[in-house]
Amino acid sequence: MKAHIAILPGDGIGPEVTDAARRVLEQVATVAGHDFDFETSAVGGEAIDRFDTPLPEATVKSCTRADAILLGAVGGPRWSDPSAPERRRPEAGLLELRRTFGFFANLRPVKVLPALRDATPLRPDRIDGVDLLIVRELTGGLYFGPRREEGEDPRQPKAAWDTMFYREEEVERVARIAFEAARGRRHKVASIDKANVLASMRLWRRVVDRVAADFPDVEHQHVLVDAAAMHLITRPADFDVVLAGNLFGDILSDEASVLAGSLGLLPSASLSATGKGLYEPVHGSAPDIAGQGAANPVGAILSAAMLLRHSLGLEQEAAAVETAVEEALGTARTRDLAAVTNGDDRIRIVDTEAMTEEILSQPSLGRRTTAGVGAV
Ligand code: NAD
Repeated sequence: MKAHIAILPGDGIGPEVTDAARRVLEQVATVAGHDFDFETSAVGGEAIDRFDTPLPEATVKSCTRADAILLGAVGGPRWSDPSAPERRRPEAGLLELRRTFGFFANLRPVKVLPALRDATPLRPDRIDGVDLLIVRELTGGLYFGPRREEGEDPRQPKAAWDTMFYREEEVERVARIAFEAARGRRHKVASIDKANVLASMRLWRRVVDRVAADFPDVEHQHVLVDAAAMHLITRPADFDVVLAGNLFGDILSDEASVLAGSLGLLPSASLSATGKGLYEPVHGSAPDIAGQGAANPVGAILSAAMLLRHSLGLEQEAAAVETAVEEALGTARTRDLAAVTNGDDRIRIVDTEAMTEEILSQPSLGRRTTAGVGAV
């Protein structure tokens, strides 16, 4: 298949990890006989320095042409003045990108690999078997509802309010993504709300029930957000797909990311109605380790696997990349995971480049079958 992929490396370790992910995509293309071409453009702080805006027009055009977008990370101390105008803030570029392309559903898988069970701060027996997918509504709810500040001095308002606002269709489209995803997993959806207090969440629950009726093979339950925050820590392995609105999904996905042990391991996808997606590791630009070869490339490489699955429909290739990552972590790890080798001297502590090589050299990424890459 032919695909055009926009690469937005961004700041800090962004270029190092997107380079690793691109090499994996190139190898997948070579081995499975696909034709991927890549176009790199500026975003975030780098774009502010070069073009005086965090999202230059040329970058938007490149993303418009692309079938999918792979992003590293944006931000850093050089551009961290919170009182700076919008055009000087790297994060504004990311928000604008989400808005421009209508990326309304954010997917964050969290899987605890057996080899890394000691990396989590929870008791290892609590996290055995954790394999969940958080589906968060990304362009509505409290972050986008009407807001107002009142008072004579706009810098010190005497009253302020935000509104949690949802329309039926906004809930329906993200719920459909969650139920579809559950079909490819363990067929369970936990929908998070606060329907006992909030009108917007009663609407949320009603629409989720309606969508669920179209998926009789998927078991669903409603969980109040306060209870969900507890269950994610006390019995995380019980969850399969977790569906949540913008605010609750933001908080719960950060809580869940702790389960995996290192931020550097986690991928994400933000999807639009057209199939175009924005794929990025969950971590930020990590300025403290940028340029040292210490960045863990796994979050970016697993984001590339999500790109293959969700935007290009290449499920077998995506699974082959995920298998290669799991296999490679059994023999090599970057510094962020150095503490969890448990003295096993077969595990080498390596830099970004060598970790990428370790993944590229796994059998699942090296063999060609009639249907695609690997033997999965
Ligand atoms: P961060 O995720 O960049 O770093 C937190 C800690 O985790 C650091 O100690 C870092 O070294 C480590 N870490 C992160 N990714 C790693 C990786 N791949 N390998 C090894 N270690 C890794 O969060 P932060 O320090 O709070 O933020 C730094 C900058 O990134 C800020 O400017 C922030 O605004 C920005 N940020 C951007 C995004 C994004 O682009 N989506 C997300 C979060 C933060």
